[in-house]
Amino acid sequence: MKPVIALVGRPNVGKSTLFNRMTKSRDAIVADFAGLTRDRHYGDGRLGEREFIVIDTGGFEPDSTTGIVKEMAKQTRQAVAEADVVVFVVDIRLGLSAQDQDIARYLRTANKRILLAVNKAEGMSESPLLGEFHELGLGEPHPVSAAHGQGIRSLIEAALEPFEFDEQGEAGGEPDGVIRLAVAGRPNVGKSTLINTWLGEERLVAFDMPGTTRDAISVPFERNGQQFQLIDTAGLRRKGKVFEAIEKFSVVKTLQAIADANVVLLLLDATQGVSDQDAHIAGYILDSGRAVVLAVNKWDAIDSYQREQLKRSIELRLSFLKFAPIHNISALKRQGLGPLWGALADAYSSAYKKMTTPVLTRLIQEAVEHQTPKKVGHFRPKLRYAHQGGMNPPIVIVHGNSLEGVTDAYKRYLEGRIRAHYKLVGTPLRIEMRSSK
Ligand code: GDP
Ligand code: GDP
Repeated sequence: MKPVIALVGRPNVGKSTLFNRMTKSRDAIVADFAGLTRDRHYGDGRLGEREFIVIDTGGFEPDSTTGIVKEMAKQTRQAVAEADVVVFVVDIRLGLSAQDQDIARYLRTANKRILLAVNKAEGMSESPLLGEFHELGLGEPHPVSAAHGQGIRSLIEAALEPFEFDEQGEAGGEPDGVIRLAVAGRPNVGKSTLINTWLGEERLVAFDMPGTTRDAISVPFERNGQQFQLIDTAGLRRKGKVFEAIEKFSVVKTLQAIADANVVLLLLDATQGVSDQDAHIAGYILDSGRAVVLAVNKWDAIDSYQREQLKRSIELRLSFLKFAPIHNISALKRQGLGPLWGALADAYSSAYKKMTTPVLTRLIQEAVEHQTPKKVGHFRPKLRYAHQGGMNPPIVIVHGNSLEGVTDAYKRYLEGRIRAHYKLVGTPLRIEMRSSK
């Protein structure tokens, strides 16, 4: 389970800047996907091999002054409740304020691990002004500069200190044949209805869960000879020997389930179209690199005109997930559910496809013969050979010379050829260029 770090503090102390800093490395990977809008409040961070989730409580714009205080208090409480560690951000240049004292008073009662980050401390890490913040009774202040990237690493290290990390994440390892499935989607798309339909049909092999609330419930079941582990996103609850899904949407839970899964089923609501929240959740899935199948639920409830509109809006708004197959279903009427199993299995096997160096190299060479990459300046990129750099998602590493000049369009062309050869569906495919000097 990825630890969750919440950033709290009054407006303008630099929470959003710190959030961007802590989640930056991840963002860079997917920065250039058309149509991808980011949720500014939740992000994935990484320090070396250690991954974590960051919640930012900044950036909200309520309309009145009393509104700010109320809204801030609400956002703070919610984020603190979801977090494992709270980073309380204060501003060294403005000094300690009454509002900081209020927040500190609340945090001291919150029964969470709290770190105090004193921001805007560039060039001031030895400043006597830091001492003032001891008064808050939240331990040693960590001087940081979110804007200049100073002290961030040691702040994150301190935040993650109590957590153990797996040497090798689930994602990178060898597949064990079990589809770890997360059903994601915003409230009311029909996650619980779908899961209850499934679980009602299947004979469940219930197993005992460790007692802590930090462990997500996961339900093992089998379908067409394929083993699944359903990872909790919809608030799965155990009732005696059976499970039922209850509505309890949480972004953090969704992020954790996606991280834990190897295939994600993203549900959309046909009657609602594609909302910002849908696009955000789709963005998290893209970030995670997980295999994904899209299911448009409540297909029964819309007419043929609406169906056409919806298809177009999915193409437009979720264009960055176009590798994902789309299934139109009705969880309520149990329509279209059969073919989903095959789609999930295909996405899984695509995500863990083994691609050998000779075959990849031949594919690359054939692609070049068919269409040479364009010259950049005096040099034409020379693609020599390729090997597989990882699974889930599959990564193809192309070796050669002057590969900096390979355009995104050409990468997409290569991707298309590799996808077609291996019949990859439902998984992202990353292509990386590695030039030898
Ligand atoms: P939030 O309201 O807490 O999310 O604060 P923001 O991240 O929006 O930052 C508020 C202002 O402080 C912006 O003008 C930032 O550029 C500035 N700021 C953030 N971090 C630093 C820092 O480390 N040093 C300085 N000097 N300014 C910063
Ligand atoms: P969740 O919040 O994603 O778990 O959504 P629920 O499973 O609680 O469903 C929300 C509402 O949508 C409920 O009233 C369901 O009866 C309804 N619903 C779910 N699936 C379908 C469907 O396939 N067709 C129609 N028409 N309604 C559905």
